[in-house]
Parts: sequence; C-alpha cells; structure tokens
Amino acid sequence: MSNPVVAIVGRPNVGKSTVFNRIAGERISIVEDIAGVTRDRIYTHSEWLGQKFDLIDTGGIDIGDEPFLTQITEQAEIAINEADVIVFVVSVKEGVTDADEKVAHILYRSDKPVIVAVNKVDNPELKGDIYDFYSLGFGEPVAISSTHGIGIGDLLDQVCRSFPEMNEQEEDNEIKFSLIGRPNVGKSSLVNAILGENRVIVSNIEGTTRDAIDTPFVTESGDEFSVIDTAGIRKKGKVYENTEKYAVLRAMRAIDRSDVVLVVLNAEEGIREQDKRVAGYAHEAGRGMIILVNKWDTVKKDNRTMQEFEDLIRREFQYLSYAPIIFVSAVTKQRLDKLPALIKRINENHERRISSSVLNDVIMDAIARNPTPTDNGKRLRIYYTTQVAVKPPTFVIFVNDTELMHFSYERFIENQIREAFDFVGTPVHIIERRRK
Ligand code: GDP
Ligand code: GDP
Repeated sequence: MSNPVVAIVGRPNVGKSTVFNRIAGERISIVEDIAGVTRDRIYTHSEWLGQKFDLIDTGGIDIGDEPFLTQITEQAEIAINEADVIVFVVSVKEGVTDADEKVAHILYRSDKPVIVAVNKVDNPELKGDIYDFYSLGFGEPVAISSTHGIGIGDLLDQVCRSFPEMNEQEEDNEIKFSLIGRPNVGKSSLVNAILGENRVIVSNIEGTTRDAIDTPFVTESGDEFSVIDTAGIRKKGKVYENTEKYAVLRAMRAIDRSDVVLVVLNAEEGIREQDKRVAGYAHEAGRGMIILVNKWDTVKKDNRTMQEFEDLIRREFQYLSYAPIIFVSAVTKQRLDKLPALIKRINENHERRISSSVLNDVIMDAIARNPTPTDNGKRLRIYYTTQVAVKPPTFVIFVNDTELMHFSYERFIENQIREAFDFVGTPVHIIERRRK
C-alpha cells in the first residue's frame, strides 16, 4: 500500500527545508546511510499520530540554470504531480510577495488541497500578520515557526485531515514492479518490450490518481502484473524531468510502491555511483530485487564474459547477494520471456511464510552442524525462532544474550534459512531478542 504524499512548495528562503527537517524529525532518511548520498535530502517517510505519509521538499530539486521563476513554477508543478496534499510555505517577514503569487497561480490549476503555512512566526506578536496571506486564496493560513517548532502540530493536523480517502482497491492480485536505473540504460525500451510481449489491460476506470501511470498487463499463463512508471519512461519533456534529483525522487517513489524492483544496468557502460545509490535504497526499503544487465547484445563475448560481469556486480553490490542477475536485451528481446515468471517467483518469496515448527527444525539442524559461538566461556543459546513479518520475510531469534550473536553466525543462520527455503530475490531480516 502506498502512503499519502505531502509536498512542500514555496519560493526560496521561506524555510521549506527547515520545515521539512522539522517534520522529518529524527527519522534519518535511509538513503543517507548509503555512501555518497544526499547532503540535502528531499524525500522521507514520516508519521503524525499514527498516520503515515511520505514527504517531499520540492525546493531541493534544483532545476539546472533555469531562471528563478521557472524554478519555482516547475517545483510547484512537481508538487501537483506527486502530492496528495501541498504545503505552501510563505514567510511572515516579507509578507505576500510576487513570487508567492506566482506559486499560488500554478497551484490554482490543481484540485489538490493546499495549506498555507506562514513560517517565521517566532513570537505571538507576529500572529496578527498572517491574515494578509488569506489573499492567496487557500483559506485560513497556519502560523508556524519551524526553527522554534511552533505550530507544526497544528499544521500536521490540518495536513492529515486533508488526505484523500485511500481506496483499498489497490489490494489486488497484480504484482507491482518497477525498473530503475540511470538515464539511457534502456528502462523505457525494456518496458515497451515487456508490454509488447504481453496483453496490456486497458483500464475502464478513468485514471484520476497519480497511480494511473501504472500499466497493468497479463501474461499468457494468466499472471497479472503492473509496471510502475519511473522518471522519463513515459514522457520526457518538462525541464525538471531531466534533472537527476527528480529522477531519483521518482525512482524512490516507484520503489516504495513496488513488490519487486528491477535494477537495470547498461552492459556497455558498467556500473556507476548512481546505480548503487538507487539500488541501495531499494535494498533498504526491503523490496524483492532482480538485477538486469541490459544491452547484452552490444557486448563482444567469450565464454568468460558473463561470469566476469557477474563477479563485478557481486563485488560492487555486495549487499544484493540475494538478487538474481540476468543478462537481457531490449533490442533482441533475449531472455525477456523469462522475466514475468522470475518476478512472480520473487514476489512469492518476498511474501513467503514459514511455520515455526519447520523453521525451528532447520535452525536446530544448523546448530547441530555448526555449534553456536562462545565468548569468555559463555555460549550463545538459541531457544526459539519465529517469523514475524513478510515483505520482506523477518525472523526473530530468541537467545540468552544478544551480544553473543556474532555477525558471522547470524549470516550462517541466514544462509541455512536460504538453503532450506526459496528466498531468492528477497532480503531476509533477522532480529535477535533476549528471552525474558
Ligand atoms: P528554503 O530555501 O525555503 O528551503 O529555506 P531554508 O529552510 O533554507 O531557510 C531559509 C532561512 O530562513 C534560513 O536561514 C533559516 O534558518 C531561516 N528560517 C527558517 N525557518 C525559520 C523560522 O521559523 N524562523 C526564523 N526566524 N527563521 C527561519
Ligand atoms: P532509459 O532512459 O533508461 O529509459 O533508456 P531508453 O530505453 O530510452 O534507451 C536509451 C537508448 O538505448 C535508446 O537509444 C535505446 O534504443 C537503446 N537501447 C535500449 N535497450 C537496448 C538494448 O538492449 N540494446 C541496444 N543495443 N540498445 C538499447
């Protein structure tokens, strides 16, 4: 299920990124933990009183060398495209400016709820000044001070009240997947090739939500899939659609909505930092995963080429050791016929449940073959293991002392679980708990 999306818009210096960080709170965006990523994050998951949502700071998407007004209008358009609710930040210090009005005019074009947050209301005396912002035409403004943390709760109350009813219709049988990767690796060619080999389902429900950009199709064997559009697959045109930040944002949004993510590499060019960044996010998000090496038709091969390329990927993406690698070509369609069945299998693995009795037999066998480690004469004892979640499969192991569970032994346990059950293509999470 996807969360509602909140986008923050407004001219520069009103405090958008301060508001973003305030709402994001201590939740460090997962992407930041992966090497080389964003000093300035623009996308995060957040929560207010149990309501989950995703938050975008459009101010962080800088649109190249475009003039100031183009920048802010494009950012407002991104907000309209991506969000369910828009937080329009203005500053009490300057009052209503021309640039604010420019942003307002773009936002009028959409029917998304817009909440005006008047920032920098650092003390109560300034509160009287917020009513000028009624003139923007979005109803009663909310006074906040993002540096002081004042009014943020009221703002979030209002945001949450404005979320649309999420239709549960999304709970269907179709398997959702997305293709992510750098520009020009062949994502759109692959999507077109895959759709070309299967029957695309034409929806009779008029697409009004942002999810309408998904394309459902059914294979010959009757399995239903839906491919999620990522940046630039369907339309390339708007200035912002060619910026890397936007591409990464769209990829992250697509990953969040996917059951299985296909990381596309270009066999001609090898592996780049940007590939690792987005793949890292998919891994952290716990999605099923396949690595596609596209443009395989362009590579001069001998009998070692494939193995060498595979070794390179395994070295560069060590944390993705569970993801199968397949070598494909959107042009010759090599191996594309294998893809739906593989995606289906990985989706099954991603939601696989193992009964506790079977699981504990496997763990006990494992311990018998490779006894638990000791530290200072104290031995790790494993009492019981149980699966607590799917998507991805998550196991809790109850032990006498979590300190005694070394990384290498945990990996041994994971490998034993993977040997006993089919978890190809999905991460597996293992959590240790001390038995009370
Ligand atoms: P953005 O360009 O809209 O993302 O704005 P920033 O978040 O970078 O903030 C611009 C400036 O306004 C920074 O110097 C912030 O410290 C300051 N600022 C942000 N929020 C507040 C606030 O609530 N009160 C005051 N006095 N300054 C703020
Ligand atoms: P995207 O930006 O990732 O969506 O990439 P495109 O699908 O637009 O492809 C970029 C370029 O690579 C286009 O010129 C495609 O024709 C070409 N291309 C895509 N897939 C293949 C492939 O498998 N083999 C070859 N030789 N060219 C490809």
